[in-house]
Amino acid sequence: MSFTGLIVAAGSGLRAGPGGPKTLRSVAGRPVLRWSAEALLAAGARELVVAVSDETREAAKMALSGLPRWRTVLGGATRALSVQAGLAAIDAPDTEPVLIHDAARPFLETRHMEALLASLQAADGAVPALPVADTLKRAKGGAVQATVSRDGLFRAQTPQAFRLGAIRRAYGAWSGPDEPTDDAAVVERAGGRIALTAGDPRLMKLTYPEDFAMAEQLAGAARIVRVGQGIDAHRFGPGDRVWLCGVEIPHDQGLVGHSDADAGLHALTDALLGAVGDGDIGQHFPPSDPQWRGAASDRFLRHAADRITAGGGRILAVDVTLVCERPRIGPHRDEMRARIAQILELPLARVSVKATTTEGMGFTGRGEGLLAQAVATVETPL
Ligand code: MG
Repeated sequence: MSFTGLIVAAGSGLRAGPGGPKTLRSVAGRPVLRWSAEALLAAGARELVVAVSDETREAAKMALSGLPRWRTVLGGATRALSVQAGLAAIDAPDTEPVLIHDAARPFLETRHMEALLASLQAADGAVPALPVADTLKRAKGGAVQATVSRDGLFRAQTPQAFRLGAIRRAYGAWSGPDEPTDDAAVVERAGGRIALTAGDPRLMKLTYPEDFAMAEQLAGAARIVRVGQGIDAHRFGPGDRVWLCGVEIPHDQGLVGHSDADAGLHALTDALLGAVGDGDIGQHFPPSDPQWRGAASDRFLRHAADRITAGGGRILAVDVTLVCERPRIGPHRDEMRARIAQILELPLARVSVKATTTEGMGFTGRGEGLLAQAVATVETPL
């Protein structure tokens, strides 16, 4: 179902401690605001209107750069005024569903939004809410005055779903000195019926510094480590050098191949592609295509790394084993590690190059060809 997303990111978030407005601080390498925006877009938002303040506008634009279908509007001095500024900026019919979301709740998922939009069909608003689990105390001066029944009490979260015309009218009718603490309260006071959908602890609002530590763990739990392996072999032939792991080695033979025949980088490229289930080197660079004749294999490896990055992944470590009697690999090993680390933009400690022989046995033992094997570990979204 089509809907518009309205993200409130105008607050300073001072309770979250130093490090700037909380919605612009990073969780797992992405600003909190970007997590929210990506989730709304992934769920099918037609457009995102992001209410910002003068102080947060530039940083918010940076946080959202590269994403489609968003624009910022200047919010107001309070959350309610920021929401109203955002609602005024939406160009859609009165019946358009609007999901209003606090930017500081980064872990919303498509299923949350689908449930809200479904509930909105038969209500004036829909809100994700969790039953209160802790015992509630009323206290004063550090001493309990009473235990309050938690029966029927819920904690309201965001996003909250409304029809554009209805939420605009409700805000227009709000009067009184008090500030609404969420948007559903505004519709409630206007006489609207708010439906509850299942809340989620993951929809927690990042408020205090310790919330960010918990958010890092939650973000980490949404990622998995995958392993890929690659194998390649090339035949020895006439020549005076070989390319192995991106390093040129003088030798009394060459390796025969369509490109530079760097079996080390080819095996590693296949390992990276394998870790993310993205085909193999021959699919991405067909040997039948003349443009790869004699090509330097570092571009194959870089391409595989770029595919992983584009999918939101990150290379953790790579390990290459070269199998041959000659040339001797040991003297070139450090340079090979350094070259792979450079191509993949990895710390040297995450790159391993090893060599072995097959003690005269088989095609590598007879010196007919060289074999390379590689293993790559990659972290990707779940
Ligand atoms: Mg090859």
